[in-house]
Amino acid sequence: MPPVFKTDYHVHPDYSYDAARDTIEEYCERALAIGLSEICFTPHYTAIPSVADKFGFVRHKGEKTPVTGGWLGDYIGEVRAADARYRDKGLRVFAGLEIDYCGSIHDFLKKRLTDEHQIDYMLGSVHLVNDGLDIMIPSEAEIIFTQTSPSDFYDFYFAEVDKIIDSGLFKSIAHIEGYKRYGVRHNPDYADAGLIPYGHFERIFNKVFKKGMTFEINLSLFRDGQNVTNPVEEVLKMAYDCGIRSVAIGSDAHRLKDLAIAVESAVEACRRIGLGVFSLA
Ligand SMILES: [Zn+2]
Ligand SMILES: [Zn+2]
Repeated sequence: MPPVFKTDYHVHPDYSYDAARDTIEEYCERALAIGLSEICFTPHYTAIPSVADKFGFVRHKGEKTPVTGGWLGDYIGEVRAADARYRDKGLRVFAGLEIDYCGSIHDFLKKRLTDEHQIDYMLGSVHLVNDGLDIMIPSEAEIIFTQTSPSDFYDFYFAEVDKIIDSGLFKSIAHIEGYKRYGVRHNPDYADAGLIPYGHFERIFNKVFKKGMTFEINLSLFRDGQNVTNPVEEVLKMAYDCGIRSVAIGSDAHRLKDLAIAVESAVEACRRIGLGVFSLA
């Protein structure tokens, strides 16, 4: 049985412009207090030019700063200092980013994030679909999910997941059923276990396995009462059947109180299926 332990690999500290002003230090203190062995921070990194005015920012020294500006050195320095401080107390601290990908910024991302800054954990996310609409923003999700059939949506969405995997830049994929949060409000099919797009998942998981990548069990649906892991256990079993043996756990916390929310649900799902927990340590 691969090792299972409590971690959180999807945390938005104050650097994320859409997060509360809770700091790396405050998250580390709480992580230690609730018994996590590892925490990996993942501020949003949205450098896609067509949505730069909308999403292309971080918070640096309290100021709204372009995500492509010079903040990464300070961010990584803060994480490294935290790792040095907390390591002997039993907590490892890593520097990740949650990244929206498109082919036109591939070389920029590789140069800036992989070569220059050696980000520990490149977490690829699909938030944006046609015309830069965001599946995680209720008003935009309404347009997407009322105007597109699930089958057309899945074709588009999973093609974007393919691009993340094929880019070779990423270690992990975030909230792979991210369309469920708001999709179910407009079409119950998105929550129907019988209608899970297994064909897409099989293709994705076979590639994730071959590339030595992982994906996350995202726990943010425990914040708004849906109280299920993302992806659900049927999909996690499919990942196991495709050879994947370790998955990351991520709360997607944007404020301190959501750190490691429902982490036990992820740990228990892993134990039932035989999956280990992904670790950079
Ligand atoms: Zn996300
Ligand atoms: Zn996130």
